[in-house]
Amino acid sequence: MLAFRTRWLRAFCVLAVTLVSDLVQARDWEPGFRDLAGWGRDMHLRPIALGEELLLTNRWTRMRFRKDSDRMTFNEVEFRLSDRIPVEGSRFRVSQRDIDSLLAPLLAPPKRTSQTIRRIAINAGHGGRDPGNMEGRRMEKTYTLDLAIDLARHLKSAGFQVVFIRSSDRFIALPDRAAAANRADADLYVSLHFNGFDGPGNDAVQGLETYCLTPAGAPSSNDSQRRGRMAGFDANRFDRENITLAHLVHRAILDQTPLADRGVRRARFMELTLLRMPGLLIEGGYMTHPGDTRLMDSRKSRDQLAAAIADGILRHKKLVERGTPE
Ligand SMILES: [Zn+2]
Repeated sequence: MLAFRTRWLRAFCVLAVTLVSDLVQARDWEPGFRDLAGWGRDMHLRPIALGEELLLTNRWTRMRFRKDSDRMTFNEVEFRLSDRIPVEGSRFRVSQRDIDSLLAPLLAPPKRTSQTIRRIAINAGHGGRDPGNMEGRRMEKTYTLDLAIDLARHLKSAGFQVVFIRSSDRFIALPDRAAAANRADADLYVSLHFNGFDGPGNDAVQGLETYCLTPAGAPSSNDSQRRGRMAGFDANRFDRENITLAHLVHRAILDQTPLADRGVRRARFMELTLLRMPGLLIEGGYMTHPGDTRLMDSRKSRDQLAAAIADGILRHKKLVERGTPE
């Protein structure tokens, strides 16, 4: 899916890949695979084979997998798997890595045992001499800052403290953005972006993408060559909480805005690799799509998006803090 990347995000990824391949020795990360229906039964999910698809369901959960696909849905929200679903005869298989870093945390979200979630770092993507995506005179850096300000208001009224990585039109290097969140001792990091697609048929590509850090050894979702199977970062210790956060924020946005679902995805964006807290990056629609653009240009729709993000963060806090001593 490299063709779907924005120019700037592609640049981030190249930087991140360069950094990592310089520092980390390649290792054999081929994961073990296991029988998907059998895993489902262990989790009290009933497997239902539907030709090219396998459903795992119970009263609360509906997971849908497709043969040879790296997409699955969990209660009708799309997620990208690290490894495609191989089928041998009639048996669907799934990688242990996808079980550990995606399926198991979706079924049983992790619980924090200490620190509560109080302080949220908000990164308005780009700024200053880096405009991000540009469509005519419209610049991504302006939309991200407007959204950041709306998001801060909603988070504060939900009782959170807010740390702005930038609150004006200025350039900050990516490593400095993560460093600022780390210095501020933030409990979560939210990076705001808007996408663009510069290929043929660009006005047909639309919707929401939510990213969290790629698990160690897995290829990133947009790595169509699936080459980037690299070792992990310190920030990978938050993998399980990252996917819970990404899931709840993504779901809240789909529930509360007209944005289409382009999936919860994984990427090694540099800012995410350097965090000392769980984090995510939201691509809140395509600046190259007329419908998405109308939403970005409407104050009301932007506020709706900000409210949904804040709501997802609040749901995440409630879910992972259950059992946390005050
Ligand atoms: Zn961006």
